[in-house]
Parts: sequence; structure tokens; C-alpha cells
Amino acid sequence: MDELFPLFLKLAGRPCLIVGGGVVAEAKMQGLLRCGAEVRVVASEATPGIREAAIAGRIVWDERPFLPADLAGVFLVVAATNSAELHEEIFRRCQQAGILCNAVDEPERCDFYYPAIVRRGALQLAISTAGHSPFLAQRLRHELEERFGPEYGPWLEEIGQQRRELFQADISPESRRAILKELSSERAFAEFQARENPASESAPGRVYFVGAGPGDPDLLTRKAWTVLRSADVVLHDALVPPRILSIAPAGAILCNVGKRCGAKSITQEEIHALLIGYASAAKRVVRLQGGDPLIFGRAGEEISAVREAGVDFEVIPGVTAASAAAASAQIALTDRRAASQIIFLSAHRREGELERDLKSVPRTGATLVIYMPGSNYERLARALRDAGISGETACLIVSQASAPQESIYRTDLASLTSVPAPPAPALLIVGAVAAAAKAEAPPPIVEAV
Ligand code: SAH
Repeated sequence: MDELFPLFLKLAGRPCLIVGGGVVAEAKMQGLLRCGAEVRVVASEATPGIREAAIAGRIVWDERPFLPADLAGVFLVVAATNSAELHEEIFRRCQQAGILCNAVDEPERCDFYYPAIVRRGALQLAISTAGHSPFLAQRLRHELEERFGPEYGPWLEEIGQQRRELFQADISPESRRAILKELSSERAFAEFQARENPASESAPGRVYFVGAGPGDPDLLTRKAWTVLRSADVVLHDALVPPRILSIAPAGAILCNVGKRCGAKSITQEEIHALLIGYASAAKRVVRLQGGDPLIFGRAGEEISAVREAGVDFEVIPGVTAASAAAASAQIALTDRRAASQIIFLSAHRREGELERDLKSVPRTGATLVIYMPGSNYERLARALRDAGISGETACLIVSQASAPQESIYRTDLASLTSVPAPPAPALLIVGAVAAAAKAEAPPPIVEAV
């Protein structure tokens, strides 16, 4: 069978004929009227709905059986009677006259099919399986209905209006494009939602600060999984992989509030406003962060903001990258034969701050776990040496812990300077416990010519 050609048709003012006057015919009549077609119904009997439309002058009803002359000047015909012979005759005549015909539930007597449709104002999502599986079309329609709620109608209207205004404005085509792209983003939609749903005191929403773990969905806690399954809104950072995001229900709003979201980056205050806005609109809001939300995230500030706004919240911890990296390398961070302290550090500090932090590290043989080591270990290695840590101290670099692309390299502090950084996210473990790791030697650095 040839492929079907998908199209959205303008029917305004076009003469369309419906043969038959039952409930199916009435439904077809409504569909055609919605698009402004000029509808004529030919049927000996008709439903009250068809009669009313005829009395109101919205359609013409000819109270008699079909006649071949009814096809004169017609653009499109829907045959909705219970006579296969009549449908055959209509279809044949339509073919001869070049008129589009649809005989209801008889694919072989159709020039076109009605798709399964999700309608959200001007937004229409049409699905066709070319008759292979109407049930699949129904299922996909339900899924799309969940995913794209009724709010898409008014939202699309609003961005349409903004688009028209932008075309009047005196700005460069490049900036216009950038703004139009941002206006249609998931984030812009999330903001629209938050704006449209005013605070309701009767059914308060809730914010869940949830740890997504290091990347492997199996390392989510059951509680995180359950909360995510029933989320209305998920505000996540860039570290959370699609495999975990897809646990959220199809209808949930997903918004990446990580470093980049849409065209411009989102500020911390905007994140607070989204959390409070959605929760006040009675939504279950999941603030999903990689690893544990309480370690090197902004959860501290977000908790304060949410608490101050009087919004109900809960914190669900996650497996932090240090634990995942240690598990992958098969080392105990506090192996009592080598260390009895751990220090979690962020290398993402202003000039001088990291050096100061390290100076205060007493030489107790504590295991150092360094988050956000950046893409060049030179400064880090120098700072560690300057703090008085021996060049022979074992160092582990764990990249993408728990993900299929995970890699683990071992070196010593003296050689760390010349180790090329593996793909982010990566973590550094420095200390005697790292010596026992299951790891490879780092790949040689490519010499600059
Ligand atoms: N809250 C997170 C840390 C966020 S800071 C947690 O508890 O894990 C981001 C840093 O975490 C990255 O720069 C990297 O150092 C580390 N990280 C996060 N996921 C990681 C992973 N799968 N493998 C290695 N390091 C990871």
C-alpha cells in the first residue's frame, strides 16, 4: 500500500455532503462545522442534533434518500449510513467526479481517514496507523493527552500573540529567532503554568528535594522512585540522565533548570519562584538533583526559600557520587587500615579558596573526595602538593560512575598534573585507600607539538 499523505485541510466555505442521519453522521457534521464547512445532510431520518442544526440554519438537511445529483459541486463526502451497497455507489461516483470520499468504517471505500486527534486549541496532534492498529492510535492519543494537557491551548494562543508582536517590533531577525525559540521552550511553558495557576490554600502542593543518584536508575531509592512516579512537575539539573527523567509520568512537566535551559540560563531566584509557584498551585513538585541533593547542590538555599514561603516540603536523600565512585573502584573510603576520615571538597572555588581549604586539611591521612575537579588537574595537583600531601599518594579519577561509559584511572599525586581529564562528570579520590582500587592506568597525554 502506498504511504498516506498527511495534511491539514482548510474547509471554510467548502460544500461538504453527509449521507446518513444517525449519531455517527451527527458527529461528522459537528467536526465539519467546527472547521467552517458548508454542510448538507441527506437522510430520510435524522437525530435531534441534526434537526436542530438544520432549524438553526447551520446546515441544510434534505429529508429524503441520496440522489446522484447530490454530488454536484461537492468538495468532500462522508457516507455514514448502514448500507454497504449505497456506500459502494457513492464511493464509485465520487471517484468518477474527483470528489474526496470517506465511507465510515470501510477503509477500502475511503480516499482519506480521520486520524486519532488530540486537540488543544490551535494545537492539533493527529495520529494515523493507516488502519494497521486503531488501538495503537487510541493508546498514543491517550498518552499525548496526558503529556500535553489543556493548558497548551491558551499557552499556544499567548505565544502566537507574542510572535505577532515580535514581527512588528524593530529587532534583528537573529534576535527574533532566538526569542521565538525560547518562547516555545519547556521552561517558558513551566513559567506560563506557574503564572496561570494562582495560589490555592485549600489544596497545598508540596516540594520534594530528591536525590537522583549518580546516574544508574537502579541506584534511585524506592522513595525517590515513588515520588517521581507521581510528580506533576520535575525541575531537574543537567546531571540527571533521560533514563531517570522518563520515570516521571507522561503528563508531568519536565524542566531543566541546570546551567542551561532554553536560550538563557535560569537564575537561582527564578528556580525558587518556580518551586514556590508550582507548589502554591497545588502541584507535587520534584526538585531532582544528581547524587544527593544535600551535597554540593543548591538545596540549602532552596530549602530556606521554600520554608520562608510556608510551602510544605520533604527531602529524599540519594547516593552521592563519592559513594558510587568508591563502589565502582571497590574501595572503602574509610578503610580503617588507611583512613578514618573523609573530606568532601569542591574544586570549583575562587582563586585562593581551594588552597586555603587544603591548608587546613590536617595530615591525618584523611581520604579526600574532590567534586567538580574541572577539565585540567594541574592547578588542583599543585594545590594538593603545596598543602604538603606526598607525591606518592594514590589518586583515583572516576568518570561517569555507575553509567555504562564509566571509567576509573589510578595514578599518584606526582603524576596527576599530566593526566588528561576524562569526560565529565568526574570525581577525584586522593588518599591511601585509593591504592587498593580496581582501576586502569590513565591514558597517556597527547604531547603538544
Ligand atoms: N549532588 C551531587 C554533586 C553535584 S556537584 C552528588 O551528591 O553527587 C557535580 C559533581 O558531582 C560533578 O562535577 C562530579 O564531580 C560529581 N559527580 C556527579 N555525578 C557523578 C558521576 N556519575 N560520576 C563521577 N562524578 C560525579
